[in-house]
Amino acid sequence: MPDLRIGVLAIQGGFEAHERVLWKLGAEVTEVKVPADLEDLDGLVIPGGESTTISKGIESADLAEPIRAHCEAGKTVFGTCAGMIVCDDAHLALIDATASRNAFGRQLNSFEADLEVTGIGEEPLRAVFIRAPWVERHGAGVEVLSTYEDHPVAIREGSVLACAFHPELTEDPRLHALFMAMTSVREREETAR
Ligand code: GLN
Repeated sequence: MPDLRIGVLAIQGGFEAHERVLWKLGAEVTEVKVPADLEDLDGLVIPGGESTTISKGIESADLAEPIRAHCEAGKTVFGTCAGMIVCDDAHLALIDATASRNAFGRQLNSFEADLEVTGIGEEPLRAVFIRAPWVERHGAGVEVLSTYEDHPVAIREGSVLACAFHPELTEDPRLHALFMAMTSVREREETAR
């Protein structure tokens, strides 16, 4: 497996916990704050936090176009919670889906659930939801990897993975490992060209 360089958008929110998980999985991890930080990355994580603050930070750091270019080059992106909202079609439009903000909040602010997730094995994944969104609409090209109460909460389209919960807050690294595997497959394809 090639050494993977994964960037974590470090504007606001839970970026440090993602860095620890990725580092444990063997990635070379860098914090992304300015466009130059995106150069030479294989993958990018957009963490949870507050989506309006993260979106404003992306705009003021002139990161929107470079992140879109990273994605258009086929490099991977993993958006979690607020990061999923930032990836949706009302924000950076990296994935053909619309997230509904604080969707579970109407029922419950924060909760944990055991989810079945396609692509990470049979064992359920413990998922921490904090003022979480769900996926309100998605295009036909989007694969739903997991649902909770009939709402999609983990989705994938091409090189973009997104989930409504916080996989960096548990000891189960399987979703990050899936993201790393997506990234290394893409790397292999690239070097074979
Ligand atoms: N509710 C937050 C938002 O809408 C997301 C919460 C989170 O990332 N834990 O931005």
